[in-house]
Amino acid sequence: MTQPGLSFIGYQRSTGKDHAFQAINPSTGDSLEPTFFAATPAEVERAAQLAHRAFLNYKNASGAKKAAFLRSIADNIDSKLDTIVERATAETGLPEMRIKGETARTTGQLRLFASLVEEGSWVNARIDTALPDRQPLPKPDVRCMLRPMGPVVVFGASNFPMAFSVAGGDTASALAAGCPVIVKAHHSHPGTASIVAEAILEAARGQGLPEGIFSMVFGPGRSIGQALVAHPLVKAVGFTGSRAGGQALMKVAFEREVPIPVYAEMSSVNPVFLLPGAFQGDLDALAQGLFGSATLGVGQFCTNPGLVFFEPNATTLLWADKFKAAMAAGDSGIMLNPGIRDAYAEGVESRRGVDGVEASIVPAFPKESGCAVPPTVFEVKAEDFLKQETLAEEIFGPETLLVHTRGETDLLQVAENLEGQLTASVFGSEQDFANNTELISILERKAGRVIFNGFPTGVEVCHSMVHGGPYPALSDGRSTSVGTFAIERFCRLVAFQNAPEAFLPDELRSANPLDIQRLVNGEYSK
Ligand code: NAP
Repeated sequence: MTQPGLSFIGYQRSTGKDHAFQAINPSTGDSLEPTFFAATPAEVERAAQLAHRAFLNYKNASGAKKAAFLRSIADNIDSKLDTIVERATAETGLPEMRIKGETARTTGQLRLFASLVEEGSWVNARIDTALPDRQPLPKPDVRCMLRPMGPVVVFGASNFPMAFSVAGGDTASALAAGCPVIVKAHHSHPGTASIVAEAILEAARGQGLPEGIFSMVFGPGRSIGQALVAHPLVKAVGFTGSRAGGQALMKVAFEREVPIPVYAEMSSVNPVFLLPGAFQGDLDALAQGLFGSATLGVGQFCTNPGLVFFEPNATTLLWADKFKAAMAAGDSGIMLNPGIRDAYAEGVESRRGVDGVEASIVPAFPKESGCAVPPTVFEVKAEDFLKQETLAEEIFGPETLLVHTRGETDLLQVAENLEGQLTASVFGSEQDFANNTELISILERKAGRVIFNGFPTGVEVCHSMVHGGPYPALSDGRSTSVGTFAIERFCRLVAFQNAPEAFLPDELRSANPLDIQRLVNGEYSK
């Protein structure tokens, strides 16, 4: 990459020359060419105006047209795989296999949304036909469906440079819904972001879509990002990152003259409950399973298991020793950037001094070791855990807190005290599950996904996936950011009352020309 890194404002490149920055290779600490520059405030304005104009056209695009666009983006990304792998591995320190896997997930996700909108039933069309002779009042003809909201701003995540970034789930679901997208690129992988932005814009041009269907800006979140969220023509926001970042954007969105929804995926410690039956099988496999999940991607997964609850006895403590031995022997891994490395180091350091907490495995990792960090394990009794709110908070990285519980009361109390989570896992036998229905019922209230005998990392992209959960896992716990339900975040319901056929969208016409599933007078039919 030799060209200066400039934002993409519709089909034009930015002229901005402020806030120069370069990506840093976290493996070496070296800066990577080229230099990137922030978009100007005037360009932010232009991106929003273009997106609004594009929306007036794109909102009426057929499912087939949107599907062709999404598939074309996926094909373009596939054709750039080698360049993506080269740049993304340098910018993130993630291994080639991970970037390849994530790219496949990204294109698979785009194609999944393409199939969804091509089939068409996702709009949830409902028709209640008129009863003009009904007494005492006639019943009107009412028809409703999901319609796109308007331009969406997406904040790419640092920890998924492909699948939750420029063409990730937020962008794919917004474009599928019929909403133009403006991405605020993450400063950690600007080169990767540029390659993907080009793939999207080539597809948009190739499909003859209006300028403004997609833009991508570089620049500080606090100025450029917030200006986008505050812009009156922007109608929704997708975000993955820190709780502080998500909360700041929620505040901006709420304080607008017309507030808009922010779908922010922020923090989750993904509790794991090990019931007695979990220890009846292979203790080594259970220890290795948790070790693999806790250290996957250097712990930089939103579904990383940060809290593990179990009752101490000879067998479970033997298991804990095996887990701790695996963590102690685990290699140091390169974190995504110096900021995330420092946040991990601070989190580990602050936990060390908490009352009742034992630093079981906490090797030194001085600043000179760069972004390389070791796995860490802390231990605490449930009674001490319950006294310190901070112990239930996320330390982003390969850190696990083992919590010793005594009896059902402890178990229910720690579960009840948890914040909203993306996932909650419970390991045990069928009998354990039958004996712990109250625990499982609490976990269903706390988490977006309850997992039986499985670790939380690894999120299947499919129609039924829920990657959400009550606050702070997600700012709006009714939604998901993975899976096809994610499309509904960028839509609103519109009802048409007594509308002439010619003014109805195809999805609501009486003859059902798109042959989609609809609820007509209370009965589902095609
Ligand atoms: P981040 O700091 O929240 O940044 C994410 C994006 O939001 C960036 O584009 C950033 O812009 C922007 N942003 C941050 N604060 C903002 C504010 N006050 N106003 C407007 N925009 C703002 O997240 P990160 O850089 O990915 O990682 C930092 C920490 O977030 C990690 O150490 C970890 O604790 C947490 N994290 C959690 C998850 C999870 O899934 N739970 C995932 C990733 C990160 P800039 O370019 O200006 O920074």
